[in-house]
Amino acid sequence: MEVVRSRDQLRSALGALPRPLGLVPTMGWLHAGHGALIARARIECRAVAVSIFVNPRQFDDPADLERYPRGEARDLSLCAEAGADLVWVPAVEDVYPPGFDTAVTVERLTLPLEGAARPGHFAGVTTVVAILFGVVRPDRAYFGEKDGQQLRVIDRMARDLHLTEVIGCPTVREPDGLALSSRNVHLDAEDRAAAPVIRRALLAGRDAWADGERAAEAIRDRVGDVLATEPRAVVEYISCADDTTLDELERIEGPALLSLAVRFGTTRLVDNIRIG
Ligand code: AMP
Repeated sequence: MEVVRSRDQLRSALGALPRPLGLVPTMGWLHAGHGALIARARIECRAVAVSIFVNPRQFDDPADLERYPRGEARDLSLCAEAGADLVWVPAVEDVYPPGFDTAVTVERLTLPLEGAARPGHFAGVTTVVAILFGVVRPDRAYFGEKDGQQLRVIDRMARDLHLTEVIGCPTVREPDGLALSSRNVHLDAEDRAAAPVIRRALLAGRDAWADGERAAEAIRDRVGDVLATEPRAVVEYISCADDTTLDELERIEGPALLSLAVRFGTTRLVDNIRIG
């Protein structure tokens, strides 16, 4: 596995790789969820590149950026174990050289949910991912379903701008149902013990649908009732939206995305489940 930093190093390393090339963009502090994306790319592509870059432009809160966990040595060993051929670890100036003056935005899909809660977040995400796609030129790029809106936004951008094929991969969870996340490291012991309520709440919402409930508000209420059993969980939003447009639903008549953001102390967690 080769580790490169500058764009020049990256360019020459990419030239030596066979195609098709799969790209797994990450912000580091890697876990088995990232490992699953790399392993999936390994199966579907002849070469696998991983990027590790904590993108300052997608943080709406400077304190969140400051405390985002970082650990290059452990990240590189996870990449090697999962089967990466190439890891790009750029500095901020390698991604945004002096004079950089472009933003890539996806319009309607970024308005609700995370877009409403975190102003500027998705413009930061789509801009950096467009740069990664432009520099690496992958044949396929792998993203997690855990960040459900992000997956849809990047897929939309990649289709609209004819950039690459975007592949969504299932969420990897702890045995108690908590979705793996780099941010879980910030949960104290009590919050960590409480956090699986997220998964239980989403499953309760899905069960209500399976039992025949089709009113989206009733499904959202069911999710909220389960979250309310855990006083440490502070709900930011609960959404039951059209799976493609992310428009909030009244009735569930086709595929829907049930998603939420919940805070435990200062740690904000997101998760989702598809129903319908
Ligand atoms: P991040 O490093 O948090 O920006 O995530 C990099 C990629 O890994 C994104 O496509 C995430 O959706 C994906 N990812 C994060 N957590 C998980 C998980 N638990 N299971 C699957 N994919 C994940």
